[in-house]
Amino acid sequence: MAARAVAESVRSTLGPLGFDKLLVGGGGEVTITNDGVTILELLHAEHPAAKIIIEISKTQDSQCHDGTTTTAVISGALLEQAKELIEKQVHPAILVKGYHFALSIVLETLDEMGWELSGDELADAARTSINGKSAESAIDTLSDISVRALDAVRDDEGNINLDNIKVSTFEGGTYDQSELLSGLVVEKERVHSEMPQSIVDANVLLLKTSLEPKETKIESKLNINDPAILEAFLAREEEAIKVMCQEISKSGANAVFCQKDIDPLAAHYLAQYNILATKRVKNSDMEALRRITGAKLVSEIKELKPEQLGSASLISEEKFGEHICVCVTNEGAKSVTAILRGATGHTVSELERCFDDVIGVVALSDESKIMVAGGGSAYAHLARVLRERAHEAPGRQAMAVESFASALESIPWTLAENSGADPVDTLLSLKSSGIHDGVSIDGKIENMKKLKVIEPRKLIRTAISSAVEASTLILRIDDVISMKPSGGDLPPPMMGMGG
Ligand code: ADP
Ligand code: MG
Repeated sequence: MAARAVAESVRSTLGPLGFDKLLVGGGGEVTITNDGVTILELLHAEHPAAKIIIEISKTQDSQCHDGTTTTAVISGALLEQAKELIEKQVHPAILVKGYHFALSIVLETLDEMGWELSGDELADAARTSINGKSAESAIDTLSDISVRALDAVRDDEGNINLDNIKVSTFEGGTYDQSELLSGLVVEKERVHSEMPQSIVDANVLLLKTSLEPKETKIESKLNINDPAILEAFLAREEEAIKVMCQEISKSGANAVFCQKDIDPLAAHYLAQYNILATKRVKNSDMEALRRITGAKLVSEIKELKPEQLGSASLISEEKFGEHICVCVTNEGAKSVTAILRGATGHTVSELERCFDDVIGVVALSDESKIMVAGGGSAYAHLARVLRERAHEAPGRQAMAVESFASALESIPWTLAENSGADPVDTLLSLKSSGIHDGVSIDGKIENMKKLKVIEPRKLIRTAISSAVEASTLILRIDDVISMKPSGGDLPPPMMGMGG
């Protein structure tokens, strides 16, 4: 019951007309989202069976980035169906066997479904994933960004490393202002206002050490009585900084990204040399910059050589809403940044979650290459096949196979329900329709492939497999037993009670 309640809680968000949820945390913090896994993660579920559904949705998220609501809905439906069979005296062990039998038919059928991905279908898959999210208003911008991002980070062997697609989010703007940068957004300002604001064909120095006067290693106390000595002492430090900056300029560098601090005096000298510099750059950004510019990470300024520098076609300070950042562009870089914009913190966070789904789907489509039609059509087809072949299952397992078919139909059912159509009529029509027929956005039965509503086959395979895993795990349980807290105090021995 608990597990089914959890699954039920995300059902209304499924599909292009699904609603969003507004979640309020213990501290009053608010999240508005359509993303299944986000809702489930934020749900305060106590019951272990409910937690299993949440875990399975997270698994789907980590493997496919998308389809998390679907996984939860199918898990819930499998349990719902199981409850009815258990009430008809079918033993849970038979049920579990029947579900596994059905799963094997499903996987076999899936292997023969679908078609090979063609180039422009990546954008269609992206659009299918964006449908129904609040970011839908910028569907063209987003699908374009995700497909271009994927193409940019593809290596020579055709492999994709999603870590090379960075995301920077900014409040104060519209979804449509989102863009893809071939390079990196360093979320830091220049350290001095007189530094150049943009440099074309920059020579980039990546500095691991600080630009400050050297700290003396020995702890010492200096007693200076003569102001002239103090002045000389300070002058020496100033001179050292000046020499460092000179050295940098001499190497030909005109942009410096420093992982540590830059002394104000150093900033002043660098500005005089027309060098743009930022300080306290994150370690992960330094790594990305190394890849983008080809620069070495330098920790010794003395004898700085031009070979240690990298290059960027453009470095410029930009303002995104209230944020000032330094953008490093290199055309053809194998590392890109999606700059996501939205009016408020809530909308930007939801956009970021949506982008994660989209980029995941695009990457999955690209990697697994086989696409199927969406709108619940694949689930409807699998259900038809299961009903035809249910008799192959031994004895009462056949009933479980029929139930499995009904559980898969929960996807077109829910899509119909969420689009205001009559789910019973929809399912009746789907019982005799074609392989690509699903529920369209206006609740009609249409050819989803023609409508370009498509999904990677792998997403469906993983969603169904995970759902079976979760529901059968729960079906095997007959009791929930609370354990003693581990390492906790043992109850005091009962003395004098005769053992
Ligand atoms: P999930 O978290 O499972 O991805 P979504 O809310 O993203 O849930 O809904 C995904 C479902 O919506 C998929 O079954 C997909 O085929 C369907 N879908 C997406 N766009 C359309 C559309 N334009 N018409 C019909 N179904 C659609
Ligand atoms: Mg989705």
